[in-house]
Amino acid sequence: MFRDTVAQVDLGIIRDNIRRIKASLPSRVKLMAVVKAGGYGHGGAESAAMAELAGADMLAVAYLDEALELRAKGSALPILILTPIHPAEVMVALEHELMVTVTGAEWFRQMAPYRIAAGSTALKVHVKVDTGLGRIGLRTQAEWDELVPWLASADVEFDGFYTHFATAGREDTGFLERQYTAFLEMKAWVKASGVEARHYHCAGSAAALRFPGLAMDMVRIGAAMFGFYPEKLVHSVKLRPAMRLRSCLIHVKRLRAGECIGYDNSYIAAEDEWIGTVPIGYADGWSQSLRHSVMLVEGQRVPVVGKICMDQLMVKLPGFCVPGTEVVLVGAQGDETITFSELAMLLGSVPQELSTALSGRVERIYSGMEETGYENDIARGCLARERVSQSCGDNQTA
Ligand SMILES: *Cc1c(COP(=O)(O)O)cnc(C)c1O
Repeated sequence: MFRDTVAQVDLGIIRDNIRRIKASLPSRVKLMAVVKAGGYGHGGAESAAMAELAGADMLAVAYLDEALELRAKGSALPILILTPIHPAEVMVALEHELMVTVTGAEWFRQMAPYRIAAGSTALKVHVKVDTGLGRIGLRTQAEWDELVPWLASADVEFDGFYTHFATAGREDTGFLERQYTAFLEMKAWVKASGVEARHYHCAGSAAALRFPGLAMDMVRIGAAMFGFYPEKLVHSVKLRPAMRLRSCLIHVKRLRAGECIGYDNSYIAAEDEWIGTVPIGYADGWSQSLRHSVMLVEGQRVPVVGKICMDQLMVKLPGFCVPGTEVVLVGAQGDETITFSELAMLLGSVPQELSTALSGRVERIYSGMEETGYENDIARGCLARERVSQSCGDNQTA
């Protein structure tokens, strides 16, 4: 790709983060790396490869298509699909050795006609229960009892039983404790019904890092592997963000006091000012709601001015800068750093909303492969792209 705006992803940091998370947990606890939404915007297959290298036991994605993409790119670990798939698609899951999430007996009833029994391997199932997030999952013992015969059947492997916390990133732990207690009660239903799940799991990143004692058999780590975690509440582990988002000034001009910038004259210069244009906009995932944010130019924080356009936005510069000067939207430049967390705070959101919003128009460029010594097609592909970008991109940073 030929754009000046690129997301630089350090795969060594992703690998390191996972190693640190693993080291903070009891050694018997397995780690499921959650690489849905293209590895939270960092690259699904690439993140999965790093997770495997760092010792992850399983992968998870949200949808069947995401799992198929990982298989096509060579991920060999067990993969759990977190959102129930259509019962009619069961053979696709079996063919690619994917584990499915089930929330009730109705799924099995609908699935049965689509399953070609002869010779096919057992379907690995994780049962999802709702203990308070209110999203998906069975809630009552009657629903559980109805499910048991299906789980006990010879062509089903009951691989997991899990729930998801609603408030693990919040300081107050009351609701988390209630959910955990509810999960323990549901776990007792399983034990009493004569079937046994291989893995009980409830903790995502925040819960696993804050309360390793809740880990049970496995933790499901997404955000934290990319360096997104509630830093103020976690003291045992230090993680680093893996993505840097950079661009450059493509146009620099002097504005006179009273002249306008942007659609709807959304900014009017108060005095004579230097204005730079940066080639990123809302079609890249840089939402208009970031119009009051800042970026780094020559090591200084500079404000966005005017409404963010589809493909470009304008910043107010401290003085003249040559076109081609590097602009850092996320990451470090000089002594300054802007994080996804900082920007998310501004929007009342979470860092992964911003990283996953980065569209396919923003190329991901990978580094950190060399030191991993990881040799496969994904790694070679990443390195080839890295070389190309260095030869045509770096001359633009003055
Ligand atoms: C996305 C997701 C996770 C990962 O959560 P993080 O907070 O990003 O670690 C874990 N479990 C389920 C069910 C999820 O949907």
